[in-house]
Amino acid sequence: KFNNSLKTIDLAICAIRSILDILPHPTPQICMNIRIGNGYDIHRLVSGRPLILGGVQLEHELGLLGHSDADVLTHAIMDAMLGALSLGDIGHYFPPTDAKWAGADSIELLKQVNSLIIDRGWQIGNLDTVIVAERPKLKPHINAMRDRLAQALQLLPEQIGVKATTNEKLDATGREEGICAYAVVLLLDISAHSPIS
Ligand code: MG
Repeated sequence: KFNNSLKTIDLAICAIRSILDILPHPTPQICMNIRIGNGYDIHRLVSGRPLILGGVQLEHELGLLGHSDADVLTHAIMDAMLGALSLGDIGHYFPPTDAKWAGADSIELLKQVNSLIIDRGWQIGNLDTVIVAERPKLKPHINAMRDRLAQALQLLPEQIGVKATTNEKLDATGREEGICAYAVVLLLDISAHSPIS
């Protein structure tokens, strides 16, 4: 008798499943009110170049090599911002082959990327970053970088995370051949039409 009841329940479940299958499936509503992006960059350390991170020039015997000012932190942030809206990468907007960007102040480029995002109806909710550098000690400069980036992006320093770590002397960054940076950015939809289609 017990087995018969189980069979009845099984049949009922099957019947419900087949009814649900023939019902039209609800159109998936993709929530587009927030977007996330990530960015990464690395630049080589050489002598005779300034070391600029997050728009702050640091005292160091080596600096970062690049077509622009080689501000690796700001570059990672820009790529994360662009990535969040699937707008490509900074190489597309500021190609290193274009003499126009030679020695460019990356903070100015960051402002341009921010305008691009604002024009599309988005703003940064918060961003978080990691700089990987064996030397110099970055801790004393972290707040200056957060302030500089906040000013450029018209945000509060509380919306900007900048963290620093060494690579425990491992790999290229650990051998002080370069400095790299990682960034993640969360964008908020500030357009009137939300969610966007
Ligand atoms: Mg770069």
